[in-house]
Amino acid sequence: MNASDRDLDPLIQAAQAARERAYVPYSRYPVGAAVLTEDGHIVTGCNIENASYPLTCCAERVALFAAVAQGHRRFRALAVVTSNGGSPCGSCRQVMREFAPTMTVIIADTAGNRRLTTVADLLPDSFGPEHLPTGSGGGGA
Ligand SMILES: [Zn+2]
Repeated sequence: MNASDRDLDPLIQAAQAARERAYVPYSRYPVGAAVLTEDGHIVTGCNIENASYPLTCCAERVALFAAVAQGHRRFRALAVVTSNGGSPCGSCRQVMREFAPTMTVIIADTAGNRRLTTVADLLPDSFGPEHLPTGSGGGGA
């Protein structure tokens, strides 16, 4: 299920607020993200860097992992807010695809510009749980 337009403003606002909490002493590129669960909850994340650079985690994955840890596995939309409308990285696209291969993704900037896309458009011809022998995972129970 995709998000309707009226769902998007609170989601973008939540991502913007999460961006303010980003821990980015190295890149100084704060990112905020917010996911809208199928049952209407919003869970946020921000990017969190580390002095050991590869340990950094993106806002989108922080939000999705937090949502999963809170018991959510089905998502309608994810919003990401940066200073310049940066697009989700490949790792985050793959994590989005695991749980919500068709969800709406809103890419927004701090000036209020936004564009809508989908996980399917961001990660075409992707690999997913159904390609594994167990065939489960994703949005399932
Ligand atoms: Zn990422």
